[in-house]
Amino acid sequence: MIGFSRNLSTVSKLSHLQNLQTRGSPNFIPFPQLQHQRKLLEWRLMSILHDCTLFSQIKQVHAHIIRNGLSQCSYVLTKLIRMLTKVDVPMGSYPLLVFGQVNYPNPFLWTAMIRGYALQGLLSESTNFYTRMRRDGVGPVSFTFSALFKACGAALNMDLGKQVHAQTILIGGFASDLYVGNSMIDLYVKCGFLGCARKVFDEMSERDVVSWTELIVAYAKYGDMESASGLFDDLPLKDMVAWTAMVTGYAQNGRPKEALEYFQKMQDVGMETDEVTLAGVISACAQLGAVKHANWIRDIAERSGFGPSGNVVVGSALIDMYSKCGSPDEAYKVFEVMKERNVFSYSSMILGYAMHGRAHSALQLFHDMLKTEIRPNKVTFIGILSACSHAGLVEQGRQLFAKMEKFFGVAPSPDHYACMVDLLGRAGCLEEALDLVKTMPMEPNGGVWGALLGACRIHGNPDIAQIAANELFKLEPNGIGNYILLSNIYASAGRWEEVSKLRKVIREKGFKKNPGCSWFEGKNGEIHDFFAGDTTHPRSSEIRQALKQLIERLRSHGYKPNLGSAPYDLTDDEKERILMSHSEKLALAYGLLCTEAGDTIKIMKNIRICEDCHNVMCAASEITGREIIVRDNMRFHHFHNGTCSCGNFW
Ligand SMILES: [Zn+2]
Ligand SMILES: [Zn+2]
Repeated sequence: MIGFSRNLSTVSKLSHLQNLQTRGSPNFIPFPQLQHQRKLLEWRLMSILHDCTLFSQIKQVHAHIIRNGLSQCSYVLTKLIRMLTKVDVPMGSYPLLVFGQVNYPNPFLWTAMIRGYALQGLLSESTNFYTRMRRDGVGPVSFTFSALFKACGAALNMDLGKQVHAQTILIGGFASDLYVGNSMIDLYVKCGFLGCARKVFDEMSERDVVSWTELIVAYAKYGDMESASGLFDDLPLKDMVAWTAMVTGYAQNGRPKEALEYFQKMQDVGMETDEVTLAGVISACAQLGAVKHANWIRDIAERSGFGPSGNVVVGSALIDMYSKCGSPDEAYKVFEVMKERNVFSYSSMILGYAMHGRAHSALQLFHDMLKTEIRPNKVTFIGILSACSHAGLVEQGRQLFAKMEKFFGVAPSPDHYACMVDLLGRAGCLEEALDLVKTMPMEPNGGVWGALLGACRIHGNPDIAQIAANELFKLEPNGIGNYILLSNIYASAGRWEEVSKLRKVIREKGFKKNPGCSWFEGKNGEIHDFFAGDTTHPRSSEIRQALKQLIERLRSHGYKPNLGSAPYDLTDDEKERILMSHSEKLALAYGLLCTEAGDTIKIMKNIRICEDCHNVMCAASEITGREIIVRDNMRFHHFHNGTCSCGNFW
C-alpha cells in the first residue's frame, strides 16, 4: 500500500513537472531565465528521485531526464545511480548502461558507480572503476575514498585498504578531510589494526565525535579499556553515544564496577539514556549481582520511558539482572508487568529459575510459553535443560533433549550437548555422558568436555576425567582451570605422582591461578571485595576474629573441615589454614559483622564454591538463623536452616 501511494505521488509530481515545462512561451527565453529553469528542473527531479522506492518509478524518472535533455547531467544521474543502488538493481545492468551513455562523467558520477559496486560486495569491479576514473584523468573526491575504504573494510581487505590509503597521500589534499579520516579509522578498526587507526586519528587536523567514538568503541572491543578511557577523557564534547561506549565497554570486558561508575557519572551530568545504554548497564549490574544498583537502574529506565511494561528489550534484560542479583521473585515481577513478551523474556526467566534451582517453576513457565504463539529457541532449551540438570531431573531432561529437534525444529548445538553431559554427569551417569559425547554429530567443544570433567570431580572418577582433560588441554591450551581441576581429582583419588607431574606442567607453563574472589554488597550498595587469603580489607583483623568464632561455634555443632577441598600434599594444619582463607568465608564473616540479625546475607563468587565452604554456609545458616545466598559462577545457592536449594548437588 505504501509503495502504491508513493507511486501515485511520484506520478502526480511528474505531471506537475510537465505543467511547469509547458507553461509560458516556448519561443524565446533569455539565458539566465533558461539557466534558472534548468536548475529548478534538476532540483525537482532530484527530489522526486529521492522519494522513489521502486525500480519502475526510477525508470519513469529516467525517461523524464532523457526527454528533458539531461541525459549528460552528472549531477542528476549521480542521484539516479545512488537510488538504483538503494533499490538493489545490480550495478552491471541498468546502472552500467546509464553510466556508459555519459560522455564526460564527473567525479561524483564515477563515485556513485564505485560506491554501488562496493555496496553490492563487488570489490574488484569497484576498484576497476576507480582505475578507469584515474586513467580518464578524473580526480577523486572524498566520497570516492570513503566508498573504497568502506568496501575494503567490509571485505576485511587490508592490503587493498593500504593501497587506497597510499592513493590519498599520493593525490594529496585529503589529510584534513574529516570524512576520509573517519572512514580510514573505520577500515583499520574493522581489520583489527588499532595502532594504525590511532595513528590516523592522531594525525587528523579536525575530528568529530564520530572519529572519537569509533576509536573508543574499538579499544573497548579489544579489551583495552585504559586507552578507551584515556581517549574519552580527552573528548571535548561527550555525547550519549560516547558515554554508552564506555558503559558498555566496561560491562563487556567484565568490569561491571567501572561500568556502573560511568553510568552514575552520566546521570550526574544529566546525559540522556537510551535502550543501548540501559542494556549495557543492566548487564554490568547483573555481573555484579548488586540489588541496590538493580533497583536504581530500574527506576532510571522507568523515568526515561524505557520501563519493562512498554519495552520488551529492557524488560528481558531486567529479568536476567534480577535473577543474577539473587532475586528470582523480583525478576518474575518484572516478567508479570511486561505487556509484550518475546522468546527472550521467557528464556531469561527460565534461565533465571534454572540458576536458582527452581526447576519446577522453569518447567511450568516453559509449558506456559508453549501455550502462546512464541516458539522456544536455542536459549530456551539451554535454560530448560540446565534447570533439569540442576534439579537432577534426568528423565525429563532426556525427553526434552530428544524432542527439541523433532518437535521444535531446534537442532542441538554443542552447548545443548554440554547441558546434557552436565545433566547425566551430575546424576552419576558418567559412562552414558561419555557415550553421548562420542555420538555427537559435530566436534565437541570445551563446554562439553568441561561439563564431563566437572562431573568427574563430583563423582571422583579420575579415568574419565583424564579423557576429558586431555581433550580440553588440546582445545584450551591456556585454560589453567582444567589443569587445576584434573590435579584436584587426582589428589582426591590419592594419585600424588600424577598430581606432581601436573603441577610441574602448571609451573612450566607459567600459569597464574585465577584468584578466587567474592564480593559482598553493603547496606548502602557499596561493594566489598575479598580475595583468597586477603588481608587488605580495613576491618581485616575483626573479620578474621569473627570467622574464627563462627568456626568454633560450628565445630561445637559437629562441623569438621573438609580437607579434601584443599587437595594439596600439605599437612592437615596447612590445609585447614588454606580453607579458612577462602574468599567466601571472609565475605560471610564480614556479612555477619555488618548486618543486623535476621538480614539475608548475599555473597557473589567468581569461581565454583568448594565443598568445605558449602558445608560452612549450610551450618552457619542453621546456627545464626540467617538466610545466606551465594552466587558462584554456575548457579545460586540459597542456604536456609541448614540446607541448600541445590540439594548439595552442584
Ligand atoms: Zn571454599
Ligand atoms: Zn548449594
